Amino acid sequence: MEVKQNLTAIIENIEAACRRSGRNRKDVHVVAVTKYVTADRAEEAVEAGILHLGENRDEGLSGKFDRIGARAVWHFIGSLQTRKVKNVIDKIDYIHSLDRLSLAKEIDKRADAPVKCFVQVNTSGEESKHGLSPDETIPFIEACREYPNILISGLMTMAPNTDDKGLIRQTFQSLRQLRDKVKAMELSHAPCDDLSMGMSNDYTVAIEEGATFIRIGSSLVG
Ligand SMILES: *Cc1c(COP(=O)(O)O)cnc(C)c1O
Repeated sequence: MEVKQNLTAIIENIEAACRRSGRNRKDVHVVAVTKYVTADRAEEAVEAGILHLGENRDEGLSGKFDRIGARAVWHFIGSLQTRKVKNVIDKIDYIHSLDRLSLAKEIDKRADAPVKCFVQVNTSGEESKHGLSPDETIPFIEACREYPNILISGLMTMAPNTDDKGLIRQTFQSLRQLRDKVKAMELSHAPCDDLSMGMSNDYTVAIEEGATFIRIGSSLVG
């Protein structure tokens, strides 16, 4: 399928989810996750009107960045090895996978200006998932104050691997509640306005629960 056709269907679903939950469509940003596809296909997504692209490997990012450059806003969505930070830092606008102080320290050192970061939270408790436990999240964010180039724009999570929509919804709700707590702390380095949650199978639920960035790969670009 052409990206444009996929996007049309996804936008209809986003609009319906916004109507159901009384949200403004403008507050929901689609990140096209291009990790499975070629630079040609990523470019097709940009030409279809997608602004945000997400990659989870430095190699994938470099190949696509060389082609597309500043025509897209770049999101790093995968677990990021500390030694790879220097390869990606000049290309990316957002990191969705901040999960340890050693990574915060390295980003702080390599960046020329504050980098918008999502703290990854393991809301489901699944061992296979990266991220901080909900209890660790606020102390971690407080500790990030030490790094002037870390700006905490929000929290990110992955839903559990289950067909149980109720459980998925609970996961997203608990991330939103945690986000609200951080936001209420009014930390200057952590405005924490955003929620990065929802993928191909669960983005409508995520929007109903407050997602501001949804990360869609397979159902959008393949
Ligand atoms: C691959 C990936 C996605 C997109 O997944 P789809 O199910 O293909 O939409 C979103 N977020 C992260 C962190 C990913 O690794």
